[in-house]
Amino acid sequence: MEVVTVSPAATLALSEDVGRRLQPGMVLCLEGELGAGKTLFAQGVAAGLGVVGEVTSPTFNLMNLYRGRLPLVHFDLYRLEDEAELDGIGFYEYAEAPAGVVLIEWGERFSEALPAAYLRVEIRQGEEREGRCLRFSAVGEGYDKLLKELAEKWSS
Ligand code: ADP
Ligand code: MG
Repeated sequence: MEVVTVSPAATLALSEDVGRRLQPGMVLCLEGELGAGKTLFAQGVAAGLGVVGEVTSPTFNLMNLYRGRLPLVHFDLYRLEDEAELDGIGFYEYAEAPAGVVLIEWGERFSEALPAAYLRVEIRQGEEREGRCLRFSAVGEGYDKLLKELAEKWSS
């Protein structure tokens, strides 16, 4: 299912709605080039989860933890050099038995380390400067209902 957004605000509205619908244990992997809008999407998800305060990219610290309706763990693996470091940042504990929601930027760099099931969100820049195409797909089990709900509301 694909959604085209024409502005950052439109991406935020969509991602906030995703955040409101997330259930404990859900994992989102955000894919796309630098500047595609992964962190902006994460900010909307956080807002939808009721996180108060600023959500910033964990590019340098690799992981940020937020308190919302459910806890939100936000990873950015852009600067991670070696898969072996994932253990040290608690990646597997969070990604495999999450009590909250896990959101991963640049997870595709370490695809073997990703959990068996997650919602993939691929973000592509469109022709227009502020145009983005967001493609949602389910990897593994457990995301079909969410995908269907999102398609009913947002599908372009
Ligand atoms: P990433 O985390 O993928 O590197 P960011 O979310 O940090 O990207 O940055 C995305 C940038 O693109 C922001 O400055 C945002 O305002 C801008 N932008 C422009 N149009 C859109 C859109 N439709 N959706 C998301 N971001 C957009
Ligand atoms: Mg980012």
